[in-house]
Amino acid sequence: MLVILWDPDTLLHKTVELLGSNLIPALESPERLEAILKALHNSEYRAGTRPLSSLWEGPKSRLLELTSETHGHEYLRHLRNVYEEWLSAGLIEQDGHVLPECFVFPTSTGKPLRPPRDLFARAGYYAFDMSSGIMSESYRAMIASANLACEGTDMLCGFDDRPNDIDTVVALCRPPGHHCDGQRAGGYCYINNAALAVSTWRSHQSDAQIGILDIDFHHGNGTQEIFYADAKVLYVSIHGEDEFPYYTGVEDETGSGEGKGMNINLPLKVGSPIEEYLEKLDYGLKKLVEFKTEFLIVSLGFDTFHADPLGHFQVHTEDYETIARTTRQALKEVPALVLLEGGYVIEHIGANMLSFLKGWKSA
Ligand SMILES: [Zn+2]
Repeated sequence: MLVILWDPDTLLHKTVELLGSNLIPALESPERLEAILKALHNSEYRAGTRPLSSLWEGPKSRLLELTSETHGHEYLRHLRNVYEEWLSAGLIEQDGHVLPECFVFPTSTGKPLRPPRDLFARAGYYAFDMSSGIMSESYRAMIASANLACEGTDMLCGFDDRPNDIDTVVALCRPPGHHCDGQRAGGYCYINNAALAVSTWRSHQSDAQIGILDIDFHHGNGTQEIFYADAKVLYVSIHGEDEFPYYTGVEDETGSGEGKGMNINLPLKVGSPIEEYLEKLDYGLKKLVEFKTEFLIVSLGFDTFHADPLGHFQVHTEDYETIARTTRQALKEVPALVLLEGGYVIEHIGANMLSFLKGWKSA
């Protein structure tokens, strides 16, 4: 059985970004999710809500504990407090947005990095770009989004008296997660939802073989970073070559220490045809099968779509059906959590999600 989860609180986050030389409403907008929900509403699929606001303190503190396994304590505190701190200091108005100005840069002093005392400057210590603004409701939305990853993973484990015939959960997360490395926000991401899903699964089965297939157009630098030395997490990413986030995603990044060989980057030139894309997908899936993946996380981005403004391959709506079917056929019996990452063509994102679901269910 396939279950789709969303949370109304995730619609509250609405910020701005510097794209090119323009300050604009962030392309990662509530309208993306609303378009998906509308398409689902007019289809055979039903999205269930798991509102964070209905959670009692027990699960909420568990969520934060699991998040802090892969995210820095000070970083999480920053996400929670920075908007109020800026507001109290008169740096922004009530409807304002926290945006960084100066980022961490390498030096030869050998001094350990520490957050700057200056409140305004500190935002740059906990971010790596200017597409991760924070407004009044951002923290609430981030936690709600993370909670979907956590809840979805619990459902797949079949705990808490829930029916255990669920084999797939599609979590309609926003903000997305795969660019967050646990220490800093960037690329619209603040909490790495895939990392949280790994921690949640491990809270039930500590030695599981966990596979992450990242099919967002952009390299999941954050997920790679978090699991780079982890022998029990195989990360496979198909993404645009020399594209955002620019400093990661090359094939020779294969993992380190015990995690050597557990990081597989499959970059493709921008605009590559679907045939080349499916070749990379087949290769990645073969590796995930060989690894004997016990829990699969799919970081699903629809910014591979041919008309996406933030990068693209020659992937059309009907191709998501093929991508999903191919993935599910390769890893048929594996419990799967599908996490929404990017995708910025509002007019088509709903149809693209329906196409993906159709392919997944038909496998
Ligand atoms: Zn993306």
